[in-house]
Amino acid sequence: MSDRVTILPTTTGGTHAGYHSLKDFDCKRRGYFRQVCHLEPEETSSALLFGTAIHSWKEAFYRTWEVAPFTLPREGYFDGEKWAEDNARGQRVITNWAATWAEHDIREFEVLALETTYQYDLGDGLILTVKPDAIVRSRTTGKVLALDTKTTSLRPHTLCPMLESANQATAYSLVLREVFEGFLGWLPDIAFSKGGSVACERPGVVYRTAQQLEDYAIEVKSTILDIGDRVAEIGHASIRALFPTCDAFCHEYFHPCSYLPICRDNVTPDQPVPEGYRRSDS
Ligand code: SF4
Repeated sequence: MSDRVTILPTTTGGTHAGYHSLKDFDCKRRGYFRQVCHLEPEETSSALLFGTAIHSWKEAFYRTWEVAPFTLPREGYFDGEKWAEDNARGQRVITNWAATWAEHDIREFEVLALETTYQYDLGDGLILTVKPDAIVRSRTTGKVLALDTKTTSLRPHTLCPMLESANQATAYSLVLREVFEGFLGWLPDIAFSKGGSVACERPGVVYRTAQQLEDYAIEVKSTILDIGDRVAEIGHASIRALFPTCDAFCHEYFHPCSYLPICRDNVTPDQPVPEGYRRSDS
């Protein structure tokens, strides 16, 4: 294994963090709120609670190869009706997923790692962290895949092109090819639900070329350094001027940006914490 990568102890349960940390770099203003001001919302959204419960169920499946009943934890839900609605939806999703993939995965995959965090040294003291849901090896091809659950209300035909170009695939490939011999790519495992409709689909493996990975490593590094440079300008210009809005990521249906309420404010790291947020430890 490359000495650029550090593997941290496996963590289970709790908030699923990997995807959200990568998203920090989609919008520099969001990166600024999270990475520089260390702000995070106080309340966990029901979408995140739902997604986390589906992830936890799948993690247990890959540990035991058993299809257990699904129950959405009640903790975090203030509205009983919303919990009952999400619980029923989760049961539909898991029933559909198990019917579609459980036997296939038992037959086809050897699990190499679950919920493990990998840190990649970008150089100059910058670290890129990824946390794929599962690393599996195909018994048919011997190839290694990062298998990742996507709970979504976007129909698969809408979501698939977005996943094809997603930075998540690139970041995972950049890091995991250094760790696993035969690493092939990222396999999104879509769990769609909206109203009474559910569908579980896998659009296929998302690949990246060596050149794309090299470019991405430079891009992430320059984004982080750029945020640092702009922070040094605070005082001369407002954060609104230094970090222009990146509207594409504000209103994602299932994961709207949690910084929307303060996005137009001139938040700085030394100000009191805005209402509805808390300072994270990192
Ligand atoms: S609300 Fe939009 S522009 Fe503001 S931080 Fe979030 S993603 Fe960026």
